[in-house]
Amino acid sequence: MGIVKETLDSLVITLKNLARKPVTVQYPRERRTMPERFRGVFALTTNPETGEENCIGCRLCQNICPSQIITVIPEKREKRSYAKDFTLDMNACIFCGLCVQVCPTDAIVMVRANDEVGYSREDLFLTKEKLLANEKKYQDLISPMTGSVLRNMQTPPRPAPRPRPKPQPKPEEKKE
Ligand code: SF4
Ligand code: SF4
Repeated sequence: MGIVKETLDSLVITLKNLARKPVTVQYPRERRTMPERFRGVFALTTNPETGEENCIGCRLCQNICPSQIITVIPEKREKRSYAKDFTLDMNACIFCGLCVQVCPTDAIVMVRANDEVGYSREDLFLTKEKLLANEKKYQDLISPMTGSVLRNMQTPPRPAPRPRPKPQPKPEEKKE
């Protein structure tokens, strides 16, 4: 009796699922929209108005990277600093996102691409040229979670200070 009930129960579950919309997507013709905070690959950004690189070569990303895979060579030009060279070896990246989080100019960002692959180690060694090209290649997939957005989320604005209580007048001294 038990085996008949269990068989019927499983048949009911199968029939219920036949009517459900499939969750499988027909990749690569269809692609899922990855979450805003998805960490897939990196890009270096430029100013959309002037076309200038946003990286100022401050090396904060290099210094914070726990895997020590970022190398920045800064260069001072007329008005500001740049990264003369910038490399990121994605072979050893743990996708912690710290480099993005500390960047003061939102120059390094994550891209929500989940199918960036390489056939050799060199393919995953990101040069400055590759990182700058990724901004255009993945322009619709650049994560909105830039360093400034992430920092604001971590340190929300402080509440307004409470008004101080007014000083009370001292009680008059008793006369003898
Ligand atoms: S995500 Fe983390 S490990 Fe990868 S490059 Fe950035 S700081 Fe380094
Ligand atoms: S990517 Fe950002 S943190 Fe890294 S060197 Fe450039 S400006 Fe500094």
